Amino acid sequence: MNKADLHVHTTASDGVLSPEQVVRLAAEKGISTLAITDHDTIAGYRKARHVAEEVGIKLIPGIEITSDYKGKECHMLAYCIDLEHPRLITMLAAQKKIRIARAHKMINNLNKLGFDIDFDDVVAESGQDSISRVHLASVLQKKSYVANKKEAFDRYLGNDGPAYYKSEYMPAAEVINLIKEVGGLSVLAHPGQHYLYEDLRYFLKAGLDGIEYIHPSHNYELQMKYMNYANNFGLLLTGGSDFHGFRHYDDGNFGTICIDTVLSEKLLTLGEQRKDHSTN
Ligand code: AMP
Ligand code: MN
Ligand code: MN
Ligand code: MN
Repeated sequence: MNKADLHVHTTASDGVLSPEQVVRLAAEKGISTLAITDHDTIAGYRKARHVAEEVGIKLIPGIEITSDYKGKECHMLAYCIDLEHPRLITMLAAQKKIRIARAHKMINNLNKLGFDIDFDDVVAESGQDSISRVHLASVLQKKSYVANKKEAFDRYLGNDGPAYYKSEYMPAAEVINLIKEVGGLSVLAHPGQHYLYEDLRYFLKAGLDGIEYIHPSHNYELQMKYMNYANNFGLLLTGGSDFHGFRHYDDGNFGTICIDTVLSEKLLTLGEQRKDHSTN
C-alpha cells in the first residue's frame, strides 16, 4: 500500500511534535503523502515544507476548521487552499480571535473553580498560532491539578464540563462555501455517530467535496456507512490518523490508520481542476 495520511496535528495547534518532526516521523512510518491539518491555522504547513522536500514526502496544505452545525462544533477539513487568499487570511484571523477570547473565558471559569492559572501560562504551552483546550489541559497537568489531559477534559474542559465555554463559530455551510471560494476542497472530518443521511444531504447541497471515512474513531461499520454515502453522493473519500502525539494510541495509529495514495491523488486532481477553473 502506498500510504497517505490526510489528518495530522503539530505544535502549530494542539500536537506535541513540531511540523518538522511530524514530517520526519511520517517518512519513517512509510507515509508518502501527508496533509498537516492543524486546528484553524496553516502555520505548521509553512514550517514543514522544506523538510517534506528533503525527505521526499508530498505535503498537502490543510486546515481543520472549527465550525458550527446545529449548535454543535463541527470540524471541517480544508485541502489545497490558496494560502495567500485574503478571505482565508481574514477567516483564520477571526478564528484565532475566537480561540483567544474562549481561552480567557475558560481561564476565568477555572479560576472560579479554584485553579491558579493565567493566560501567560497557557500561551507558554500553545505558542502564538492556535490556542486549544489541550493547552489548558497541559497547564492543569503541569500544576498537578490533574494527572493527565484526559482527566482535565473529563472533569473540567469537555463540552459538558464546568469550565467549558461555547464560542460562536461560523456555520458549517458558510465554511464549506468559503473553502470553495479560496480554491480548496472541503471534507467533513470524523463524522462518527453524529450525522444522519439528511445531514449529509444538507452538507452536499452546501457544496461539500468529501467525507473522512478512515479515522481512529470509526469502526468498520462506520467506515462502510460513510464509504456508501460518499459513493452515492459522488464525494471524495479521505482519511487519516488524527495524530496529535499525546494520546496513548497515537504512535500506533501513525502510519497504520491511513488511506491509499490512489485516494489522495483523486483529491489532488480535483484540487488542481478547481484552481484552473477559478483562474479562468
Ligand atoms: P479545541 O479545538 O480547543 O476545542 O480542543 C479540542 C481538542 O481537544 C480536540 O481536537 C482534541 O485534540 C482534544 N481532546 C482531547 N481529549 C478530548 C476530549 N475528551 N474531548 C474533547 N476534546 C478532546
Ligand atoms: Mn485536536
Ligand atoms: Mn477534529
Ligand atoms: Mn484533528
